[in-house]
Amino acid sequence: MATLLDRYKAVQAQLQQAIIDGQRLATDVQLLAVSKTFPAEDIRTLYTAGQRLFGENYVQEFAEKTTDLSDLAIEWHFIGALQSNKTRMVAEKAHWVHTIDRLKIAQRLSDQRPNEMPTLNVCLEVNISDEPQKHGVSAEAVLDLAQAVQALPNIQLRGLMCIPSATDDIGILKKQFEKMNTLLSMLQQAGLSVDTLSMGMSADMALAVASGSTMVRVGSAIFGARSSKPTI
Ligand SMILES: *Cc1c(COP(=O)(O)O)cnc(C)c1O
Repeated sequence: MATLLDRYKAVQAQLQQAIIDGQRLATDVQLLAVSKTFPAEDIRTLYTAGQRLFGENYVQEFAEKTTDLSDLAIEWHFIGALQSNKTRMVAEKAHWVHTIDRLKIAQRLSDQRPNEMPTLNVCLEVNISDEPQKHGVSAEAVLDLAQAVQALPNIQLRGLMCIPSATDDIGILKKQFEKMNTLLSMLQQAGLSVDTLSMGMSADMALAVASGSTMVRVGSAIFGARSSKPTI
């Protein structure tokens, strides 16, 4: 059976190939290891192998892991749905939040970010598949939200994030990833200094890289199958 390190190395190799195939620069695409539901020990193992970016989805689990692993120089990314009554822990512990879809959450994170810490990097989550039950700001509302978030003092708007349609149809996925790329360019043309497209997961990493992703969020391909499904 493949070990955690075997799977990690295989994902790194797949990512390198996707970067070559997509004619991207290796320095332009980062690997975020999504460790939700897996033990802190697994994170420690990957850290020893050189991985520094880890993503978590659930506030309580995030709190426990950041405490258990506080001796490591991990860059913590919060990528789960965030309720306004649970922002404080994230404001105090995360380096990045990928899932801003309304101003209220961004305002709370900015208010609660400790003054002695660097600004919190954030991405706006876009409901790129335009499904009513999904989180995310609509494509039409991205610019207004981006401008409002940009104005907040203790957070730094870095870019956009999406979870595309749950489909294997490459044509549909490609269209959605390319639309994300267009939205990022639109923000840049509007004068916002954004540089991040957080898209691509275990199943669609290569396609996302070909479409301009700068950060792929990979969970199960590295850590193995999860017993519970992601809730967002
Ligand atoms: C769980 C999760 C991932 C990782 O998904 P895999 O299919 O396991 O790679 C990426 N992004 C978000 C927002 C997630 O919740």
